[in-house]
Order: sequence, then C-alpha cells, then structure tokens
Amino acid sequence: LVQAALDRINATDETIHAFITLSETALEEAKASDEKGYSTDRPLQGIPLGIKDNILTDGIRTTAASRMLEDFVPFFDATIIEKLKAAGAIIIGKTNMDEFAMGASSETSYFGPTKNPWNTDYVPGGSSGGSAATVSAGQVLGALGSDTGGSIRQPASFTGIVGMKPTYGRVSRWGVIAFASSLDQVGPMTHNVEDNALMLETIAGHDDKDSTSAELDVPAFAANLDKGVKGMKIAVPEEYFGAGVDEETQATVKAAIKQLEDLGATVDTVHLPHMKYGVPVYYIIASAEASSNLQRYDGIRYGYRAEDAESLEDLYIKSRSEGFGMEVKRRLMTGTFSIASENIDDYFMQAGRVRSLIKEDFKKLFNDYDLVVGPVAPSPAYKFGENADDPVAAYQADLLTVPVNLAGLPGLSLPVGFSEAGLPIGLQIIGNYFDEERIYQAAYALE
Ligand code: GLN
Repeated sequence: LVQAALDRINATDETIHAFITLSETALEEAKASDEKGYSTDRPLQGIPLGIKDNILTDGIRTTAASRMLEDFVPFFDATIIEKLKAAGAIIIGKTNMDEFAMGASSETSYFGPTKNPWNTDYVPGGSSGGSAATVSAGQVLGALGSDTGGSIRQPASFTGIVGMKPTYGRVSRWGVIAFASSLDQVGPMTHNVEDNALMLETIAGHDDKDSTSAELDVPAFAANLDKGVKGMKIAVPEEYFGAGVDEETQATVKAAIKQLEDLGATVDTVHLPHMKYGVPVYYIIASAEASSNLQRYDGIRYGYRAEDAESLEDLYIKSRSEGFGMEVKRRLMTGTFSIASENIDDYFMQAGRVRSLIKEDFKKLFNDYDLVVGPVAPSPAYKFGENADDPVAAYQADLLTVPVNLAGLPGLSLPVGFSEAGLPIGLQIIGNYFDEERIYQAAYALE
C-alpha cells in the first residue's frame, strides 16, 4: 500500500502539489509495521496517510506552509501522530495548506498552491487543501486536516471527500501549531465514512498534555454506523439557504435532505437568528487569538531569522516582515487592533458576547433535534485567483462553516453531488456536542 501511494504521488503530485515534504522513511516503517502484523489494537496497520503541515512530526519538516518555519524539523510527535503510529499507520508526508491555516483556497502557501484533482484550474479549498487533494487524487487512504473555521469541511466539499471536524475538545491539540486556540480542532479526511470513523476513533480522547481535551470515553464510531436515520429529527436552518448560496448548491443539498426524509428522518425548517454575525465574529476572534499565538515567531527562539539586523527590535521587525506572507500579516494587524486597550471592548469583547448568542441558537436547536444540516460552502470550488483581490469577499464565503467552530460543535462534510461544471458539492451534517456518532450514522445512511 505504501509503495502504491508513493507511486501514485510520483505520477501525479507534480501537477496536484498536495505535498510540501515527503517522509524518507515511509517504506522502512511499512516493513516494520507489517512485521508486527495486524491486531485489533493496530487497526491502521500499514495504512498510508498524509498529515497537514501544521501538525508536528518527529524528524519530518513541519512548515505550516510558511517561510517562517521553512527549515523547522520537530524533535517530537504531536499526540495524535503518536496515536496514529501506535495504531500502525504510516506517515507518507506533510500536506500543503494556507500559511498558518489562514485561508480557504490553499493559495496563501509559501510553497505555491495545491490544485483541485477534479479540475486543475480550480482551487481545492483550504486551508487543508493538500490533505483534501491527496485523498481525492487517490494518493493516500486518509489524511489529517485542521479546522478553525471550516478548513476540513470546505476543502472536503470542494474535492468530493469526507471531512470531519470533531467537537472542540474531542481531539488533543498537543503538537498542533496554534492558529486560534479556542477554535482549532484536528480531524480526519477520507474516501468514505467508515474510514473516517475509524481514524477519529484512533486520534480522539483525553490527553494530559492538552487541558482542553475532554475526559470522555471515545465511542466505537465505526462499529455503529448502520443504525440508520429512521426516527432522527433533523433541523434545516433557513439561513443556510440564504443570499450568497448558489442555486446548484441549494438544489443538490436539498435533494440529499429529501433522501434523509425518504430514509425515515423527520425534517423541519428552523432558524439560527444570530448566524449572520458569524463571519465578523469569527474573523475578530480568530485574528485576535492568532496575533497572540504567533508572537512566538520572533526570529530568536526558532523560525526564520533575518540577516543584517541592527538592533533587537530591528531583528523582530525584519524577521517577521520577511518570514510571514500577506494574509498572515493582515490577520496579525487586524487581530492586534481588536485587542488593543482602546478597542478591546468594542471588538474582541463584543465578538465574544455575540459568540455566546450563536452558541445559544444552536443549543436551543439541539434541545429538539438530533442533527442540523445544510450546505458546507456557498458554491463549489472556484478558479484560482477569483477571490485573491478581495479578502472580505473570501471571508464571507466562510459563512456556513464558522458558526460551527464558534459554537464548538462537530460537523462533517459528505459529498452528495456535482455541479454542472463537474465539481463536487458537500452536505454539512452538524451534531450536538460529542455526538459525532449520530453524524456518522446519518452520513453512512446517505453514502
Ligand atoms: N477560511 C478560514 C480562515 O481563513 C478558516 C481557516 C481554518 O479553518 N483554518 O480563517
């Protein structure tokens, strides 16, 4: 399998560019894994995986697609990597992404963009575009992505694969390069629902090294997939079919919802009254947290160091000016602005208050419903450059994914159809806190 993955990468990755770095030891590790053999506690024996390049891998360069970390080789594994290795999985390499996971098209990578395997004129989505593309192009059997505001679900939707953002706290973030700590969550991106469930089982669970990881048992997601949706109560927020969501997407997603109904679920139209504030609230909070998290890249402890600095301050300024790309700088500036003492109450604190309202909207729905469904993104994949000159328009396209992160809920993208141009369209299935199981059951019923 690992040899087949490497062959496929050799044949296709010059065009797709899903990977930033390939592991040099994958084949050796596969041999060692085979020697140990399969057992139930090694459910991923010999399975080749791609890992988003913001997740630390011992001995394999980890860049977050930034010049700032161009030469950074970690000396330990993220907890989730340790878990995957213990289950027998083989890390094939590190996948391309938007720089520091800031973006929705993989165009902000320092290493150049990833292409959508369905049509290389189109973006694969982002920020986990490399993880989505490597699975979609048939290079690997699964990948890890991270989702702060849609970065697993939206690229999964754009490339026709299954992507799960688990409940905030379900998966350890130890060893994951922080973007916005109150929103970041890692999850699996796979060809099908069963693989996804199996991968989540492997990476989920409490970790003493991450105090935000929940002390809850991890259900056997993959063993309970075929329960069906009969009797499930499903909510469809009208706001998910509002202005900006194109007609093809609406029609394809509505057809999938109709199928859920045909399979025995009850479906009601509902409202999320504060959802319209999701994008501004998200961009204030995510950028503010990023401005704090990215302070550590100062050119001294680690990361890119500029030459010819004349003073300490000059070193900071030059290293950060040269090490970070445009989009990251934009977030750092707006984030710093919104937490400056004269602005914090109007921006960061206010965003926190509205975040609570968005969370309450969802909580109320989950008093009466098992799942909430709608589109993942307002359109299928778009062409390269289409959103490049208008960051606010690009941000606005996150309207259907960011509320889920703000609330901390789990959400999955399932491929349910194609646009006329032949590009995949995803259905978003959102569950109650730590109820990934029911999301998988509904997705499996539709698959
Ligand atoms: N598109 C969003 C952003 O640019 C989401 C990114 C993410 O989930 N990492 O911030």
